[in-house]
Amino acid sequence: MNDTVKSIATLLKDLDGILIFPHINMDGDALGSSTAICLALRELGKKAYVMINEPVPKNLDFLECSCTTDDDKVLDEVQLSLLIDCNGMNRITGREDAFNRGKLKGCIDHHMSKHSDIRFDFKRMEAKSAATGEIIYNLIKALGVPLSLDMANCIFTAITTDTGNFQHSNTTARTHDIVGHLHKIEGFNSKTISALIYDRKSKGAMHLEAEVLDKLNYYADGKIAVGRITQELLKRHGCTMDESEGIAPRIMSVDGVEIGVLIKESEMNVRVSLRAKSYANMERVASEFGGGGHIMAAGCTFTTSVDETEKALVPKLIEAL
Ligand code: 5GP
Ligand code: MN
Repeated sequence: MNDTVKSIATLLKDLDGILIFPHINMDGDALGSSTAICLALRELGKKAYVMINEPVPKNLDFLECSCTTDDDKVLDEVQLSLLIDCNGMNRITGREDAFNRGKLKGCIDHHMSKHSDIRFDFKRMEAKSAATGEIIYNLIKALGVPLSLDMANCIFTAITTDTGNFQHSNTTARTHDIVGHLHKIEGFNSKTISALIYDRKSKGAMHLEAEVLDKLNYYADGKIAVGRITQELLKRHGCTMDESEGIAPRIMSVDGVEIGVLIKESEMNVRVSLRAKSYANMERVASEFGGGGHIMAAGCTFTTSVDETEKALVPKLIEAL
């Protein structure tokens, strides 16, 4: 089942009381897409909120637009729970009860994962979209809502972050067409938004990045590079994990690296970011460990130590070469 954007727009027009769920470890696409559709639904006079249960990363603070809440009682009646940029319960950990309040459940996503543990009443999955933000742009148009500056900023953020600033292979003519339209919105300035996203790093975050890059472990004649961020490293540089955003793409800049890995130790578990430069299938590797994503960018979670995680991953990465 893959519903059309038009049929989803028709359905949304008849609903009120909508909770929108970006995935855990929210990124620019998850939060930007969620806020953009929230603002559009509010423009239609509907009660809508973006449900989160973690702090918004500092570089994405401008995406909140008074839409985010962690109060799962914010609405008396939830007619729809809308999952954004992911498709499974394991991507909204801690918000399951809030999600289950929705009488209807919908999903808008651009990941590969075909299977889901949720029975959706509607679903739009476009693996060819560079960002969920592209689908949301079309959905807002189908709703007949004029794009506001805030919505344009949200969609631009979704697209620039998920395309690695238009450098990844998921970038298409449609991606640029949509951004071309954003430029026509009064007040829109891509440089201003890019600076908010990319140019507000703390000095500690710069030192963190330098140390991770300095200590990369290389395998398979340098085709695989593994970076590691431990809690000790974060504390030493006075950083939070969301400040490590941006390190994975730097690993990919090394000549000869096909697969870049960033192993991130949190207080509860170990998160792994997998990136490929041109051919290795990271979605397949991530799936083997219960994760998912795209061919060129995927992720998974371990409950083992950083060392054990690296040991378990490397043979699978070598197979993927
Ligand atoms: P990142 O490494 O930036 O966290 O994630 C890379 C891509 O893989 C993103 O599109 C993200 O949504 C997806 N992803 C990361 N971790 C998981 C996971 O555990 N499960 C699934 N299904 N997708 C993931
Ligand atoms: Mn995305």
